[in-house]
Amino acid sequence: MAYRTVNPYNNEVVKEYPNATDDELQAALATGHDLYESMKKQDISERAKILHNVADKLREHEDELAKACTIDMGKLIGESRGEVELVALIADWFADHGEDLLKPEKIDTIATGEAEVQHHATGVVMMVEPWNFPYYQIMRVFAPNFMVGNPMILKHASNTPTSAQMFADVVAEAGAPKGSLTNLFLSYDQVTEAIDDPRVQGVALTGSERGGTAVASAAGKALKKNTMELGGMDPFVVLGDANMDDVNDIAWRARIYNDGQVCTSSKRFIVMDNVYDEFVENLKKKFAALKPGDPMDPKTTLAPMNTERAKNKLQKQLDGAIAAGAKVVYGNEPIDLPGQFFKPTILTDVTKDNPAYSEEMFGPIAVVYKVHSEQEAIDLANDNPYGLGGIVFAGDADHGAEVASQIETGMVFVNNFMSTLPEIPFGGVKLSGYGREMSHIGQMAFVNEQLIVKADKPNMNNLAGGLVAVDPAD
Ligand code: NAP
Repeated sequence: MAYRTVNPYNNEVVKEYPNATDDELQAALATGHDLYESMKKQDISERAKILHNVADKLREHEDELAKACTIDMGKLIGESRGEVELVALIADWFADHGEDLLKPEKIDTIATGEAEVQHHATGVVMMVEPWNFPYYQIMRVFAPNFMVGNPMILKHASNTPTSAQMFADVVAEAGAPKGSLTNLFLSYDQVTEAIDDPRVQGVALTGSERGGTAVASAAGKALKKNTMELGGMDPFVVLGDANMDDVNDIAWRARIYNDGQVCTSSKRFIVMDNVYDEFVENLKKKFAALKPGDPMDPKTTLAPMNTERAKNKLQKQLDGAIAAGAKVVYGNEPIDLPGQFFKPTILTDVTKDNPAYSEEMFGPIAVVYKVHSEQEAIDLANDNPYGLGGIVFAGDADHGAEVASQIETGMVFVNNFMSTLPEIPFGGVKLSGYGREMSHIGQMAFVNEQLIVKADKPNMNNLAGGLVAVDPAD
């Protein structure tokens, strides 16, 4: 059975879920399409009310949702609670702003009459989501598309099925009509089958380059619009005049939050030579202070990784990095607990030919580089196949922003932790994918931007020359 909850803290198989049948997929497509047709006639304010209800229900069920998430994938319970609060915030924001964002936009044009772009639903959206933020990843797609009137089918990660089903149940409990979000335990082939179906008009994936390539290929083959939110190797640049108290306070968090399993975790620390030794010393101290244990216990500060497979993959990458010449400054030792714990590790001396230079390591491993100039820092930050996010610490925030804008990624934060909020866009460039989720940009991911030009009668003189058939009688 592919879909199952295995608690990564104690390896207990908690629950298994049968795969969806083809009939269930067909039924979900039919229900979704019918709902698309009926939502076209529904006032958007009705969906805003339901989306506010979703936020309320999420808050009401915070405790159960947070525990389910921690059991599914090991996240510290405090972080799971934070995730539930964040998704409720996202639902409220789209409920409050979706209607305005989707209002028609008037266009100034020399064409006869009045022109505007209207924003319509397009049909069912197939979403494929990862386990690392089991609720947040769904909400980034759900909230804007629910406001538009696009029904959704969800294929969540095979190791977070309980969270997936609970999210869908909360949406139903909040009064969203059947088909608004159908969670199905689909095989990869069934995902392709759904993408091929004409009722599906959008495809959203968050995940790895491997998953992204497969799903984007299927979407491309079927000519379906898609957004890809993929991996990252975000740089954390420390300039020579940065406030080192702030840097030391933020750097370890930027790597360890969610046990380092975040697309926008800082994975490469690029540090100016004058503050390098202090930086490494402090990171070591912070990593050494982390306490592994039961993620349900609020005193635990180091969570297990999400699966045994993920832990083994990370260890293999670490072994490969060391074999290729990387120096271990801290870590790379087993943790004597039965769960999927990985000791936070610091690597230096990673050269360009080392696989760790350009391969995403999705867990608590920090690679630190010493640089001697700002330009060297920018060049190193950009010498990478990914382009998701990044952080720059600088004595002067304006100068930090000048450096930030030379970094080839989708999002850079200056003198702060990377954060995600509904009003700011999320997404990347290069192998980190394309498209944006959240914000006014994410709201438009799967809308038909339909042009309507209306006039009382035609006016030939008003048309741009040559674009109208010439009457032979003239
Ligand atoms: P993954 O293997 O690509 O899985 C993500 C989702 O895609 C899962 O639901 C997975 O299902 C599904 N999937 C994989 N291959 C598929 C295929 N051929 N056809 C249909 N579905 C397929 O990703 P992961 O390694 O678990 O997740 C971590 C990655 O996600 C990291 O690279 C991380 O950086 C990235 N990420 C990116 C963002 C962002 O916003 N840019 C956010 C979070 C994570 P199964 O579980 O059944 O395999």
